Amino acid sequence: MIDLHGKIALVTGGSRGIGRAIAIMMAEAGADVAFSYRSDHRAAEDTICEIKRKGREVLSLACDMTDAKACERFFQESSQKLGKVDIVVANAGIWHRAPIDEMTLDQWRETAANNLDSAFFISQLAARHFKAKKSGNLILISSTAGIRGEAFHAHYAASKGAIIALTRSLAAELSYHGINVNCVAPGWVDTDMTKHVFGDPTYRQTIEQSIPLRRIASPRDIAGVVVFLASSLARHIQGEVVNVNGGSLIR
Ligand code: NDP
Repeated sequence: MIDLHGKIALVTGGSRGIGRAIAIMMAEAGADVAFSYRSDHRAAEDTICEIKRKGREVLSLACDMTDAKACERFFQESSQKLGKVDIVVANAGIWHRAPIDEMTLDQWRETAANNLDSAFFISQLAARHFKAKKSGNLILISSTAGIRGEAFHAHYAASKGAIIALTRSLAAELSYHGINVNCVAPGWVDTDMTKHVFGDPTYRQTIEQSIPLRRIASPRDIAGVVVFLASSLARHIQGEVVNVNGGSLIR
């Protein structure tokens, strides 16, 4: 029932992890896909191959989403080569540990730039593009940390909490232009971002035990929800935060 044939999807940070799963699942649902990444060309090549294997068009661009001009280039090249963009996923982000009493301003700003500035830049471009075509679907990636906070990651949690406020504000502002804006807030997900944590089997088990469903999400667990939000099945969902965390917020 989810059919994205004829749609063009843009994913920031699409070479690895959750972004890669989103890019590939969008292609499986029929969309042509453009994705950005920072520097890991080998991972990007691998993602390109997977998308082509699904029979879809793909464009990838190595550019830093903390740079407004680079975001503009990514958006422009994507729409010139693939066509008018229908779906934008603001996914690129970083997660670095820093106790608050040791956190430097540079660390604070680096996280804010990667997680929040990047979302602002791509959302602004999406809003302009979608307003002109009177339709579009913007999905941002927040985190459970943005809802309940996270020890030793105050900068990260603050940036992800801001993504929720950004989502709701844009939904309020853009609804009348036929634009859907929602966000997905994952809990623990098995990706390169968290592999240093899950590398310790005992710690991994402790985390699993803390999740009511007793499992850590795969990137595809998150991507499936994003693809659903991008589809017509979700057309009446607006300004929502969809939690995908195995029940971690129940208690
Ligand atoms: P990964 O580190 O596995 O992958 C990050 C991807 O984003 C890579 O493709 C990377 O490219 C790209 N990227 C990062 N920063 C930039 C940038 N400035 N410009 C362009 N591309 C960039 O991360 P995850 O897949 O785990 O996380 C994806 C999103 O999900 C993030 O926003 C994260 O905060 C969020 N999230 C993740 C959770 C988890 O447990 N993993 C939990 C909750 C939320 P390259 O490889 O070239 O550096």
